[in-house]
Amino acid sequence: MKTEFSLTQLADPDIAEADKILRACVHCGFCTATCPTYVLLGDELDSPRGRIYLIKEMLEKDRPPTAEVVKHIDRCLSCLACMTTCPSGVNYMHLVDQARVRIERDYSRPLPERVLRAVLAFVLPRPGLFRASMIMARLGRPFAALLPTPKTATATPTLLRRIKAMLALAPGRLPAPGPAGGSVFPAVGERRGRVALLQGCAQQVLAPRINQAAINLLTRHGIEVVLVKDEQCCGALTHHLGQDGDALARARANITVWQSEAEQGGLDAILVTASGCGTVIKDYGFMLREDREFAQPAARISALAKDITEYLTGIDLHPSSQHGDVTIAYHSACSLQHGQKITHAPKELLSKNGFVVKDVPESHLCCGSAGTYNILQPDIASRLRDRKIANIATVKPDMIAAGNIGCMVQIAGGTSVPVVHTIELLDWATGGPKPELKGSGLTKSGLTRPALN
Ligand code: SF4
Ligand code: SF4
Repeated sequence: MKTEFSLTQLADPDIAEADKILRACVHCGFCTATCPTYVLLGDELDSPRGRIYLIKEMLEKDRPPTAEVVKHIDRCLSCLACMTTCPSGVNYMHLVDQARVRIERDYSRPLPERVLRAVLAFVLPRPGLFRASMIMARLGRPFAALLPTPKTATATPTLLRRIKAMLALAPGRLPAPGPAGGSVFPAVGERRGRVALLQGCAQQVLAPRINQAAINLLTRHGIEVVLVKDEQCCGALTHHLGQDGDALARARANITVWQSEAEQGGLDAILVTASGCGTVIKDYGFMLREDREFAQPAARISALAKDITEYLTGIDLHPSSQHGDVTIAYHSACSLQHGQKITHAPKELLSKNGFVVKDVPESHLCCGSAGTYNILQPDIASRLRDRKIANIATVKPDMIAAGNIGCMVQIAGGTSVPVVHTIELLDWATGGPKPELKGSGLTKSGLTRPALN
């Protein structure tokens, strides 16, 4: 794609990067077929190619984004399916990240939307506040049915519609908090490795059992696990809202404490059980590339970050046969399959450990979770969730496994099939407890789970 940036514009490293990305695009349109919003809405401007044109125009003309541009960029899930499909290696992620920052800086959203985004950006990365907000949301759930639902999925969602979506996501009950930052879990037997485990923000409130399963499995296999003190939210939530000041501050804070831990106790890896977070931590090196102080440490931390399944492929797991024949529909989170290109490892680990693993049709399509997307774009998100659940139903699973808390909550909200994390199944298969299927906070309220052995 031909670009027309001036030399002055190209002196800005972000514009130089955008120029490089835009020039790689050959307008072929292959990406449109796998873009969830194009598949649903059929509008070229809701496709990757259409959005690339809009971003090019906005950056080249160096003018504030219009409401039309904002609408189509906001509808992008950042699922990155387009990056998997693109034959020219267009880095859409770095382009749309830049567009979101530009929108946040130069576009004035209506007041209710500004307030909602500010509240989400403030509450979600803080586990204490998030827990309190979930308790309040649970109290407000009975009133959600009274709020209006729009007739068409393409209408710009109103504040009330978004609040309704937020209330619907609140779990029926919250589990007790997991272990605090600063905890160290020694290896059982001879120590073969030492890792940090990202504590996460929403995940540690909604499902501390996920990291507990990771700790159980790792220590049982000779790996010491540390929950690093003073670690923060990885910054993914605010990064996707275009609030880069906040996201980069969190990245720097995490790099500082992880680097210190690596120097003092040694770290083989920083393990992540929420793939949405893993994708962003692996991108810290790029995000801070212009930061003199942090560029190199950020690159080192990105290289240390690993999805839990990526790490486990290098470990000889000891399976037991206690779980019997359980059919698993493996939901491949976008951040894992498109963001980190991890597609086979989770399925292979599950198969090797005795589960019957089924691929889900249209597995490249997002479930609609995408960070805060299911709150900000609830109608598109609901349609994607329904489509995902219909596809999952075709393989008749006993359970659904995923590697990202956002997907787990999104899918669990529309099905009675238990939704668990891949690591919970692997822990179970190697001598840990059976995943908690009832009252886990990730169940569709009022439905009874099938009994599993
Ligand atoms: S990131 Fe996903 S929703 Fe956005 S343009 Fe690419 S494929 Fe479409
Ligand atoms: S597939 Fe790649 S090169 Fe083709 S239009 Fe999409 S982004 Fe551009």
